[in-house]
Amino acid sequence: MYTRELLNYIENSPTAYQAVDAAVKILEEQGFVRLDAKDAWELESGKGYYTVQNGTSIIALRMPAKRIDGIMLAASHSDSPTFKLKAVCEADTGEYIKLNTERYGGMILSSWLDKPLSLAGRLIVKEGDAIRSVNVKVDKDLLLIPNVAIHQNRKHNDGFVFNAQTDMMPLFGMSSAKGTLISQVAEAAGVGAEDVVSADLYLYNRTPATVWGADDAFFSAPRIDNLMCAYGTLIGFIQSTTAENTLQVWSCFDNEETGSRTKQGAGALWLRDVLERVCQTQGVDLRRVLPTSMMLSADNAHAKHPNHPELSDAQNAPRMGGGVVIKANASQSYATDGISCALFSEMCKKAGVPTQGFANRSDSAGGSTLGSIADTLLPVNTVDIGMAQLAMHSSYETAACADNAHLVNASRAFFETAITLDADGNYHI
Ligand SMILES: [Zn+2]
Repeated sequence: MYTRELLNYIENSPTAYQAVDAAVKILEEQGFVRLDAKDAWELESGKGYYTVQNGTSIIALRMPAKRIDGIMLAASHSDSPTFKLKAVCEADTGEYIKLNTERYGGMILSSWLDKPLSLAGRLIVKEGDAIRSVNVKVDKDLLLIPNVAIHQNRKHNDGFVFNAQTDMMPLFGMSSAKGTLISQVAEAAGVGAEDVVSADLYLYNRTPATVWGADDAFFSAPRIDNLMCAYGTLIGFIQSTTAENTLQVWSCFDNEETGSRTKQGAGALWLRDVLERVCQTQGVDLRRVLPTSMMLSADNAHAKHPNHPELSDAQNAPRMGGGVVIKANASQSYATDGISCALFSEMCKKAGVPTQGFANRSDSAGGSTLGSIADTLLPVNTVDIGMAQLAMHSSYETAACADNAHLVNASRAFFETAITLDADGNYHI
């Protein structure tokens, strides 16, 4: 359940620009209304709204039927590791035209070789004296990064080190293709090449997603980290019923893969600003509702690898298909603590959703995500979760179909929960 819909969402979302566009489409179909930062906001009880930052981050919210006593907020990320075209990107070898790129995020370099690739992102276009942004996806096999033959590199299977500057430049065409890149992208965007002023263009893997395995238990696709969590929490948000006294918020942020510290990242003031504005429209002090608020920071987790179980902690190694993974880390690179783990586990228990735990091996640094970064500006109980997957940051990742329903059900239960505190400081859900 939900796997085909997720794969469709992923296919339509080659970069964060399209991931946000696709989310907007889903939200507008459900009657959500766009809010612009420059306007005065008038918000009606029980209604849904959304606002976008930079075209790559989005916050959607559903007003409660009565008043705001707390906020239930899910956060995920819209970006994935890839390569960005440099400003001057065509490089002429004499025989061929290749493209000059740089890394965006920490990818498995080898996973980008020998497969059809293309370009997506946005073009900045000048029309008259107006400068506007046009999202673009070139929907054809346009590029490929070729491996060196085994005969020319006998060390290829002995731990070859790829160099991002020399080994990862995609081949674009014969010499006759020189100077045609922007016109090809402009054509795909439906704009004039002469009007293109600048661009933010990224490579994307064209390999189609697939459901596979003896029992069709697995699916593989590009960008499972983190569109699986973005989509699953969005569907849980849309399915949840309007709360009496809880502001329900679904958010998805760009630039998690590069540290979240941008104007549209989870480390920006933007999230707190939006929540403050929403509370102000209701005459509510945001600071007074934070103690009864909670964040679900959703970003995928490492499943125990079938060939390398030793890379996981022996007792805290989730499996694909085993339900929602609660990620914890002593140094708080994951924001989960005893309270947030207890609250979320109880919500999942009530909803009949299985949970499992993840911790890094104590001798490895592991990853981090946006929850603890957003927490520094919005101090609320936060649980870091994700779904177990293999090959994180490969250009083609793998997860379990069953986990999509687990995530949707857990998210719906989360959004439909109201947290209260009694006079003794005890939580009730
Ligand atoms: Zn991620």
